[in-house]
Amino acid sequence: MLYYSMNEGIVKMKFKPFESKIWLSSPTRHEEEIDFVRDAIDKNWVTTAGENINEVEKSIAELTGCKYAVGLSCGTASLHLCVKLAGIKPGDYVMASDMTFDATVNPIVYEGGIPVFIDTEYDTWNMDPVALEKAFEIYPQAKAVIVANLYGTPAKLDEISEICKRHGAVLIEDAAESLGATYKGRQTGTFGTYNAISFNGNKIITGSSGGMLLTDSLEAANKARKWSTQSREAAPWYQHEELGYNYRMSNIIAGVVRGQLPYLEQHIAQKKAIYERYKEGLKDLPVAMNPFDPVNSVPNYWLSCMIIDENSMCRQARSDRDACYSSEPEKSCPTEILETLAKYNVEGRPIWKPMHMQPMYRMNPFIVRDGNGRARTNAYIDGKAADVGMDIFNRGLCLPSDNKMTPEQQDIIIDIIHSCFE
Ligand SMILES: *Cc1c(COP(=O)(O)O)cnc(C)c1O
Repeated sequence: MLYYSMNEGIVKMKFKPFESKIWLSSPTRHEEEIDFVRDAIDKNWVTTAGENINEVEKSIAELTGCKYAVGLSCGTASLHLCVKLAGIKPGDYVMASDMTFDATVNPIVYEGGIPVFIDTEYDTWNMDPVALEKAFEIYPQAKAVIVANLYGTPAKLDEISEICKRHGAVLIEDAAESLGATYKGRQTGTFGTYNAISFNGNKIITGSSGGMLLTDSLEAANKARKWSTQSREAAPWYQHEELGYNYRMSNIIAGVVRGQLPYLEQHIAQKKAIYERYKEGLKDLPVAMNPFDPVNSVPNYWLSCMIIDENSMCRQARSDRDACYSSEPEKSCPTEILETLAKYNVEGRPIWKPMHMQPMYRMNPFIVRDGNGRARTNAYIDGKAADVGMDIFNRGLCLPSDNKMTPEQQDIIIDIIHSCFE
């Protein structure tokens, strides 16, 4: 059939490209957001204080079961204040998830700390507790651990908490992607002494931006509140005794979040249906969905991801900036699938490229289950990925997981993925 492709003009294509783009995960609008935003403007609370912020802080504390929630400008700012609360000083080692968004680890460096990257496990695609234990043998002085719950799937939080306790390290949970997910019946974002969530535009609940710091400590919550508003002292003028930040949440953004929050359960149900439709639709291919622990955890299914069996990978090469592959019958690779989806106006995404492979973090320590703790610049040894994170990055990808995608549209996407393996 002949179709018009935006990139290539009139070309032969197997499927009709989608007229409007299918996004990876775009904001979902309801009716209430605009009412809360309008209310804030009408009442002239167009600032970093007001009813929307108070209500959202209250709702998140209730929803997660955490005692205190502090509304901040974004998830990254929340993680930064978590790192400050953990008392990280220049030269301190902090263990961190390796296969994650760089916002998980940059705040360590804001405070002069040194991230020690911990390899990933295959059961949940999160921090490997075995590698973490190993890391404490090499860096027993490490002060804190930052664990991310990737793609909405809880990490092995019991094991990781236990290791932190035993080594006297503060646990920080990066629950930016996992709002609403639970581990042993308890909400993520409550396992750390300090925790962060995000309302960035593609998260399951969004305010366009925004984030929160969650903690059970009143003292910590008060400190975070003070630091986030330029550390003003109680005085008739601007009195400052310590370093401050402009990190407070806007009451307008809080209005959007407030309108979205009642729909969290609905969004999770929609995302779960998408995950299950992929699982069923792709079951005859040599691929698997991103895994989770079905006994102990309930993910929020923020992004559906898949990983291709080792033997069904076609040749693929990635440099720091470019990727190429050679097509082979019955085989495929993330590059081929992502490029094919893009041709039909569908957005997918590579797995987060591990931090130890990022040029800016290449010299940092990186710990695997059975390695020796040195920074490694080689992604492959004898043609095989040298660690779990690079293996998942190499063979995995994030599938379009937008909750406005219809089952019919998803079926076409599933067919497009099949065509890559033909
Ligand atoms: C989105 C995200 C963040 C940062 O949140 P922002 O609100 O964008 O600053 C941190 N960590 C992870 C894992 C994220 O996905």
